[in-house]
Amino acid sequence: MAALDEPRSAAKSELEDAIVSLQALQRIPRAVLRETRQALEEAKRFNREVIRPRALELDMKMQEDPDYLPWDFVQEANRRGFYTMFIPRLFGGRGYNIPALSCVLEEMASACTAMANLVGVHYLGIDTLAASWNMRLMNKIMRDVAEGERVGQPRIVSLAITEPEAGTDVEEVELLSKAKVTCRVERVKGGRVINGRKIFISNGHLSTWHMLVGYEDLQRPEETTVMLAVKTGTKGFSFGRMEKKMGQRACPASELIFEDCFVPEENVCFDYGYMDRMVRWLGRPRRSVPEYTSQVIHYVLSTSRAGVAGFATGVARGAYEEALRFAVETEVGGKRLIDQEWARCLLAEMYKNVALARLSYVETNYANSLYGMFKVLQWKPMFYILKLTPRKMMDSVVAPFLNLGAVTWLFRKICLDGQKDEEMQRTSGWASLSKFAASDFGLRNCQLALDLMGRAGVLFDQGAEKHLRDCKLLQIYEGTNQLNRLNLFNCLIGRSLPGVRAFEE
Ligand SMILES: Cc1cc2nc3c(=O)[nH]c(=O)nc-3n(C[C@H](O)[C@H](O)[C@H](O)COP(=O)(O)OP(=O)(O)OC[C@H]3O[C@@H](n4cnc5c(N)ncnc54)[C@H](O)[C@@H]3O)c2cc1C
Repeated sequence: MAALDEPRSAAKSELEDAIVSLQALQRIPRAVLRETRQALEEAKRFNREVIRPRALELDMKMQEDPDYLPWDFVQEANRRGFYTMFIPRLFGGRGYNIPALSCVLEEMASACTAMANLVGVHYLGIDTLAASWNMRLMNKIMRDVAEGERVGQPRIVSLAITEPEAGTDVEEVELLSKAKVTCRVERVKGGRVINGRKIFISNGHLSTWHMLVGYEDLQRPEETTVMLAVKTGTKGFSFGRMEKKMGQRACPASELIFEDCFVPEENVCFDYGYMDRMVRWLGRPRRSVPEYTSQVIHYVLSTSRAGVAGFATGVARGAYEEALRFAVETEVGGKRLIDQEWARCLLAEMYKNVALARLSYVETNYANSLYGMFKVLQWKPMFYILKLTPRKMMDSVVAPFLNLGAVTWLFRKICLDGQKDEEMQRTSGWASLSKFAASDFGLRNCQLALDLMGRAGVLFDQGAEKHLRDCKLLQIYEGTNQLNRLNLFNCLIGRSLPGVRAFEE
């Protein structure tokens, strides 16, 4: 029996790795489709009324005045509810399903990646907060974002992990042990004191909350990682310079400076002490402390890389749409480009790139829905409870329970410890694949668009050139494409997929 079962389960596992959407068919709530359509409608209207009319003008303005902060755009996105759209209703948000975020970001980035980033990066901060499963702090900060929307004062969230000497290194635990990190978090009475700097923090100057990743022992960062929520205005925390960026100019990349900055214990989101306790409580824990650290990092990246793939698909689509418009409007040799075979083939190639980029993030979102961070939200009973419970009841009856330590413990036990290694590798591998695949397709389409225009005798097109500049940064953002390729391969080795196994044998 066992001998017969083995190949069957290997085949099942291979299929789960290879075509996640097939597993999702029966398990994803049907309302996801309707909700995604609604979310897309809102994003399309936003593009039409706000992003498209302003994209090139804002890009030029940032060129002239790199310190300009696009508050008016952030106010408008806040007014339209984009900063709470993907916050669960449990925490006071609008509660749209999280996979729809990639579609919304694709839509916005098809008009301007920088403006899409001004919305999307907020969810990078929210993802980081959520990856800790600290239900009390999630309730506090997400409800603050919702309150900011209600009173018309944006209170958005950033993620601060990159340091002057550590970029790729802090996104992989294996590299983290050798990284030159400098952001030190010291344990003091009643909280922690932070000293150090973070750089390249998208939306830094515009954010109210910063999810900061620091280390108690700089020689052993992989074993002493701490995640804290720091509020703008906290004593000892200030903003430094803003990078002068080649692309995505409207989205500030900020330096954050911490000098003896005290953060109260209630704003400590997650630390190795928790992981240590987890290891001891469980008796036979699934993971060691560095492995739990790695899991939280992968949790964040598996979710947010689907968003980056959404941005990149948007760029691929934006470039395709620019080229298509150009081909319809331009005549070469007395014949419209769109009527010429070579141009049609090139446009078909570009459309293929868009479709494949999109499929890659859709598959990643299925992986996250079934095996990753938002599995619990996509589980049908939970999905409908969260949708159908009246908001008043949610706010006054359910929300207070979230402040209990036992609730955080329970969610961590189910979601963190409950995630198997193979599930982590499946989500992380797909996320890396979609991130580098989509951003490669984005760059390719920008080059093809310029190529089409060049062959038609137009040597410069502002729209296509802006997409190209914006997209180049997407290849670095959320880990370079090189890192993502390595991560995918590490996940394949971890899963011992047949190809790798055969090679090793
Ligand atoms: C637009 C944009 C927005 C960003 N927003 C944020 C943000 O909001 N918050 C935040 O914390 N950070 C942010 N970042 C930083 C981003 O995460 C880092 O830039 C990224 O992790 C790469 O790190 P790095 O720039 O230090 O490059 P490096 O790590 O120095 O890499 C440079 C080159 O070396 C290669 N390399 C590095 N290590 C290895 C290795 N071990 N093996 C093989 N090759 C290697 C890389 O592939 C790359 O080609 C942002 C970056 C960009 C571009």
